[in-house]
Amino acid sequence: MRLVLTGGRASYGMALGRARLEQPSRYLIDERLLDENEIGGEVERLTLALAAAREELRILREKIHGAMTREVAEFVDAHSLMLADHEFTNGMFDLIRIGRYHASAALKMQRDNIVAVFESMDDPYLRSRKEDIDHVIARVQANLQRDTSHEERKLAARTGEILVSDTVAPSELVPLAEHGVLGVVLSSGSTVSHGAILARSLHLPMLVAVHDALAYIQDDDLILIDGEQGEVVVHPTAQDLARYRTWQRDATQKDKRLALLRDADTRTRDGVSIALYANAESPADIAQARAFGAAGVGLYRTEFLFLQRKELPNEEEQFLAYRDLALGMGGLPVTIRTLDLGADKTDSSGVALDGEENPALGVRGVRLSLRRPQLMASQLRAILRASAYGPVRVLVPMVTTVEEMHDVRRMLTDCERELRASGQTIATHIELGAMIEVPAAALALPSIIRSVDFVAIGTNDLVQYTLAVDRNNDQLANLYDPLHPAVLKLIANTIAVAHKAGRRVSLCGEMAGNKHYTALLIALGLTDFSMHPALMLEVRETVNTLDRAALRVHAAALLRAPTRAKIEHALARLSSAG
Ligand code: PEP
Ligand code: MG
Repeated sequence: MRLVLTGGRASYGMALGRARLEQPSRYLIDERLLDENEIGGEVERLTLALAAAREELRILREKIHGAMTREVAEFVDAHSLMLADHEFTNGMFDLIRIGRYHASAALKMQRDNIVAVFESMDDPYLRSRKEDIDHVIARVQANLQRDTSHEERKLAARTGEILVSDTVAPSELVPLAEHGVLGVVLSSGSTVSHGAILARSLHLPMLVAVHDALAYIQDDDLILIDGEQGEVVVHPTAQDLARYRTWQRDATQKDKRLALLRDADTRTRDGVSIALYANAESPADIAQARAFGAAGVGLYRTEFLFLQRKELPNEEEQFLAYRDLALGMGGLPVTIRTLDLGADKTDSSGVALDGEENPALGVRGVRLSLRRPQLMASQLRAILRASAYGPVRVLVPMVTTVEEMHDVRRMLTDCERELRASGQTIATHIELGAMIEVPAAALALPSIIRSVDFVAIGTNDLVQYTLAVDRNNDQLANLYDPLHPAVLKLIANTIAVAHKAGRRVSLCGEMAGNKHYTALLIALGLTDFSMHPALMLEVRETVNTLDRAALRVHAAALLRAPTRAKIEHALARLSSAG
């Protein structure tokens, strides 16, 4: 029966595939004990499900390619080894034969036993292996419970899988995309979470806060994600599939129309040049940024280099990544942000603190880096060494005080001196910038600005910290409002103070890539935008229709508007003015 569930649009596009539920506790567990004559059948069902799971992993292993091959292969191999482990499987067969449990219950009991052992271990790495057990058990459970129609299964088999889960950590997304997962549906989460940002970077359609997803979607159901409408269609009809094909055709046409803008200038009707920089996380983003005429990279989130791994990347490894980034941008400026671990970005190597009561207000970004001076120095040295290959700039996240910038500047200068003394070639001047994403930094900007060469406004966090609304909490999505008068005042103030001091200021939060905010931001004085490259052509198209002088006239009225409704009203006038 066709069913439509709605949610937040975290990553664009549509995807058609078979649902893969990733929440073992949600699987139907048959608690009744078996009769003697049922035991043979149940053993057979589990044998088949294990064989199917092994076969899936074998096929997956063959499909792995690309940048993360080694890491993903390790992940798949670990799962295959678990399924090949007789102790692991015999335990389940004993539970069926001797304990008379159904296969689903035996699987769950085996999971709980193993997880209990893992949880009692001191080693955090071993403890984290609990997730692997869950993934393996979920795969076998899914194979036990396949009961969709033959047609659906055939179609789905061709179209891959869509992960349906409660949450997904940013660190899990790359392996998922590399595993051939076509899209993600989450029952919680928000559109400005780091998971959502990464999904966009991976071009992986994703819906968040689809509250009923786990209740209504069954494993193996055919589902259609509509990232444009914010819908997931369960058991899509022929009409839905036709809509999907139309979308595919329209997307190609839109790409063709926008492709005409690839080499075009980004300039308002009254001739003001607007710079569009790219937020880049992956080599695919770099390629797209170049292809779409980015002015440079406005934000490179280095923590994504750290999320996939058990050990920290050393200076050399980081240097190679930053060098390739600089080379990839062919002489255009590249803004490398120092590590912004903490809050919702925790790594497997244990740098980010564990167990903080309030991690978003905790040891995050520059606070963490300054507590780990060696780690920070190795990152700064790697960035400095990359400066020999193209213009790179250093951007510091989560700045609250001017002293933090002084500390980073001192460290940067020390690293420069050491590198020069050891004969390394580095650029003569490396610009250092602060992210303005904490209200305190926006308000104290007149003093901070003297210590920096440029600033970048991180509205994703600025909205969260100004409004005291967790950016990842879908219960508060209606309060997470970039148009709140307080947020607009802080943005306008930051732009004005920076310009007055002769510093460049860009905006690199998700707002920058939303064409509905382009006129507003230009009205507030912004000339440098940084966004996911996939959004650049749309924003360029919008900029080219606007008149900056006419928009600037409305800035004061916009900033005086006391409510969201009045701001919306003023915005509507902006569109006609622009
Ligand atoms: C921001 O906060 O707006 C930003 C760009 O940083 P991140 O999303 O990585 O926190
Ligand atoms: Mg931020």
